[in-house]
Amino acid sequence: MKRFGVSLPEELVLEVDRISKELGVTRSAVVAQAVSAFVQMYSQHLREGHTCLGAVLSLVEGVEAIGQIMEQYKDLIANYSHMHIGDRCLSVFVVYGDGKRVGEFLMGLSEKAVRTLFTPLE
Ligand SMILES: [Zn+2]
Ligand SMILES: [Zn+2]
Repeated sequence: MKRFGVSLPEELVLEVDRISKELGVTRSAVVAQAVSAFVQMYSQHLREGHTCLGAVLSLVEGVEAIGQIMEQYKDLIANYSHMHIGDRCLSVFVVYGDGKRVGEFLMGLSEKAVRTLFTPLE
């Protein structure tokens, strides 16, 4: 085991604490499992040389926030749709292309979006 400091948004820490209390495990155990799932997904799909097909859901306050990222990675976007859910925007992407670039696209989206989910299909 190795320890290191991580900064997380306060709401996320509250959720981690809630889940760890409900499951009766430590905060570290919850974070370790989440990181493990993330690392597994990245090592399989989001690496150079793998052509990745997947779906991305991204909830944003306004679509302007992700306009630049969409432009930068438009070669990956096989399909895109945009809808309004309450006062927020939900963007749905089908991405197909180099895994490393898909990873960069996802990281770019997550920085700007309220929440981004990726489901790799291939
Ligand atoms: Zn893949
Ligand atoms: Zn919108």
